[in-house]
Amino acid sequence: MMGKPEGLKLIDENGYRLDGRKKYELRKIKMEVGVLKSADGSAYVEWGKNKIMAAVYGPREIHPKHLQKPDRAILRVRYNMAPFSVEERKKPGPDRRSVEISKVIRGALEPAVILELFPRTSIDIFIEVLQADAGTRVAGITAASLALADAGIPMKDLVAACAAGKIDGEIALDLNKEEDNYGEADVPVAIMPIKNDITLLQMDGYLTKEEFLEAVKLAIKGAKAVYQKQREALREKYLKIVEEVGE
Ligand code: ADP
Repeated sequence: MMGKPEGLKLIDENGYRLDGRKKYELRKIKMEVGVLKSADGSAYVEWGKNKIMAAVYGPREIHPKHLQKPDRAILRVRYNMAPFSVEERKKPGPDRRSVEISKVIRGALEPAVILELFPRTSIDIFIEVLQADAGTRVAGITAASLALADAGIPMKDLVAACAAGKIDGEIALDLNKEEDNYGEADVPVAIMPIKNDITLLQMDGYLTKEEFLEAVKLAIKGAKAVYQKQREALREKYLKIVEEVGE
């Protein structure tokens, strides 16, 4: 969210956004499950210009041991942006933003994972942002959830995520970088659709109460569409295995 250059319009008179989308349209999303050989589970997501890899290890023994919980597994998340993921080279390593995003992503995923099944272990999730174009936390959650499923970790539901925001005074779905920069607000949401649980809800910028509710509803709709794509990606992976076994 920054000052918008004079005269820049994010939505034109015909209702089209700068990348050609309508107000309630998602960016193009591609998902692939089981893409890394050495991780227990993995997924790759392209979401507009975002490119994100997620890898899962575990459940496995924790080091250092004092972090062990006697009655359940712990979930650890590292969200990281590659130096080449943004226009100005990003200084490598953790910064305030990535530490915070790691924490909120952990909070978004934790309610889905049945941690009690694996006492004294850890489940480690690595999210690597290879290319960033706004919405990386929701794309990261979406990828990580697929990687958990791919690792065979029992879950109550998949976690699907999406953001909605406000641009040129109107509520719109799934802001890209330009819209995030020059828009008025962004509201990322993560859900577990089976029980309609919300596991992440944040707001950046300014909205009235009515606008906030409209944005949340729209983001949930977007996340439900993302959920269908996740299910398709998982199904595709298992179809491939069935075919291979057949051969
Ligand atoms: P999200 O990616 O979840 O929307 P933010 O709102 O914090 O999270 O970031 C929005 C976008 O700003 C990112 O997706 C990325 O394109 C860009 N961005 C974030 N951090 C940096 C950085 N250190 N340098 C350049 N661009 C960045």
